[in-house]
Parts: sequence; structure tokens; C-alpha cells
Amino acid sequence: WTEGTQSDAENSLTELAALAETAGSQVLEGLIQRRNRPDPATYIGRGKVDDLGSVVFSTGADTVICDGELSPSQLRNLEQRTKVKVVDRTALILDIFAQHAKSKEGKAQVELAQLQYLLPRLRGWGETLSRQTGGSGRGGGAGGGVGLRGPGETKLETDRRRIRHRIARLRREIKGMTTVRQTKRARRSRNAVPAVAIAGYTNAGKSSLLNRLTGAGVLVENALFATLDPTTRRATTSDGRLYTLSDTVGFVRHLPHQIVEAFRSTLEEVGDADLVVHVVDGTHPDPEEQVRAVREVLAEVGADRLPELLVVNKTDAADEETLLRLKRLWPEAVFVSAYSGRGLDGLREAIEERLPRPAVEVHAVLP
Ligand code: GDP
Repeated sequence: WTEGTQSDAENSLTELAALAETAGSQVLEGLIQRRNRPDPATYIGRGKVDDLGSVVFSTGADTVICDGELSPSQLRNLEQRTKVKVVDRTALILDIFAQHAKSKEGKAQVELAQLQYLLPRLRGWGETLSRQTGGSGRGGGAGGGVGLRGPGETKLETDRRRIRHRIARLRREIKGMTTVRQTKRARRSRNAVPAVAIAGYTNAGKSSLLNRLTGAGVLVENALFATLDPTTRRATTSDGRLYTLSDTVGFVRHLPHQIVEAFRSTLEEVGDADLVVHVVDGTHPDPEEQVRAVREVLAEVGADRLPELLVVNKTDAADEETLLRLKRLWPEAVFVSAYSGRGLDGLREAIEERLPRPAVEVHAVLP
């Protein structure tokens, strides 16, 4: 089901397929349903559920991934009707974040987001706590509903309570880790080192640009969300001033609010920057939509009031017509290719121009 136009739906579905592949799935087939609003019981509506059932049967698929957030009952109904596991976009994104979290803080943040997603969905489905915290694998689906009883209410209540305790604990832990980071941040600002945050849609080329600008060996992957834990590197301007460049969490459309919440402390770091370098993928079919999605998240963490430098990347692979259109749309933007290196000097200059100038020390020379 989709709210937008056909091509919005197709872009979103292509992205969903890329996300699924990032999570390690093999994508067999895509199905789009047009409706005015989601069906309350099955999300896609009765007739489409039958189509979906046939596709699942003929392809031998073992999972259905839905491009939207399903209510707990929609998810259950779909699993009962298709007899396979059903996952929604949010669960998929949470799964990828779980696979990519490396730091202690990142892992705690993902677990917090997963538990917050899980809590309202906890119903008697014979699940155990250990399975629920392990990612998007829920339900199991097969077997139909009749006679399949979940754990009794008491068991369910115990599970809920345990999850709430764990959530409270994770919140405390994350808060502790945030304090350490704030101390580091405070030290940096005392030293008056300007900070540049690289933001942008997932796969736009943030890590590649960070590597190019600082010569750092950051992991570059043609996968969504290679970047989860922020990386900070030092860079110097042509006149020798030091500044820092940080890569931030991948942004994606419909970023689950649990993620924004859990990663708030990480995302808020963007809000402390002196400049946001917003990287846009010039080869994407709808770069404007990506820019909107990123700005929405930036606004959520209060980073929308910072100076922003738009950088259109991948000009080596983008077509001329698109580039011309984007130049007209964003006359202030810098056009670069992290691959060929084209435009990087211009980008360095544009960053330098926008960095705050240090207070000038005047040494009076007495005669
Ligand atoms: P991030 O998710 O924004 O950090 O993006 P990455 O830096 O990991 O890059 C995502 C993908 O885009 C990788 O496959 C890169 O090789 C590719 N990429 C990055 N910069 C360019 C570029 O200038 N041109 C082309 N053609 N591909 C690029």
C-alpha cells in the first residue's frame, strides 16, 4: 500500500529490496497495492492477500516484507493468511542496525529500540524473551492460528515486566555513555576546534567523502547503513587550522521513531557541529525526497538551525540532465565525485569558508 504516486512507491520498494539484501535476504518479487488507506485488518486488503499468498506459494518465499509499519494485528493476520513470516519496514531496519552496531553504545541503543518496538507487539505467540530480543524474527507464522495458544497471561505479564526493566536499565546505561561523550565534546569546544558533521541519506557517499577529505580508512560498503557508529577524524584547512569531520548514522526514509529516539544522543552530536555537510546522491532517482527525509531527522534533533552545505556526490555516474536540474534547484551546492576526485578542492574551500574564524590574537609590537 502507498500514499504517494506510482513512482514514489517503486522507489520506496527498490529501497526496501536493497535494505532486505543488506540484511542478508534474497529478494524474489515485489508487489504494489494501491489503496486510499491501509486495510485495518490486513494492511493490503483481502483480494491482495490472496495474490500475495499465490506469489509466496509459487516462488517458495519464506518471508514477506511490508513497506510500512504494520499494527500487531495486521502482522498476525498476514502471517496466518500467508503461512510465512511477515516483517515490516521498521523491524527490517532495526535488524540491520543490530547487525551493524559495533560500539557498546551503538549496541545498547539498538537493543533499546528493538525492545520499544517489541513491547506493544508482545502477544501470546509462544515466543521466549531470548528470541524476541534477537531481531526481527518473530512469530514463525506457519501452522495457522487454530489451537495455537500463546503463553498464559501471567507469563506474558512477566515478560512485559522484564522488558520494561531492561528498557529502564538500557536508558540509564546510554545516559552514562552520553555523559562521557559530552565531556569529550566540552573539551573539544574549549579547545575551539570547529566541528563539521557529514550528514546525508544512507549510501550517498558520506564515508567515501570522509576518506577523501581526511585520508582516513573508514569502511565503505555498497550496503545501506554501513555507518552506524559515528567516526570523527581530524582535518586541516589550507592555512593550517584544525577542524574535525564526523560521519553520522545513516538516514533513511521513514526512519523508525524508535531509532531516532534511541540514537538521539548520537544524532544530537550533529546539533553541536559548526557546519553540516549534507551529502546527496546525484544518481538517485529522487534526490529531493532524500534531502527532505534527512532534513526532517535533522530538525528532530535540533540541527536544522545550523549552516548547511549541500554536496551533490557521484557526479561521475549521474546523467548531465539531472545535474543541470539540481544545479538550478540548489545553486549554492557543491558538485563532487568521491570516486574521481572531481570538485574536492572546491569542497574543501567551501568548508573552510564556512568554518568559524578563530578569535584573532593581537600581539602589539611596542617600539
Ligand atoms: P554512506 O552510506 O553515505 O557512507 O556511503 P558510502 O561512502 O559507504 O558509499 C556508498 C556507495 O556509493 C559505495 O558503493 C560507494 O563505492 C559508492 N560511491 C561513493 N562515492 C561515489 C562516487 O563519487 N561515485 C560513484 N559512482 N559511486 C560512489
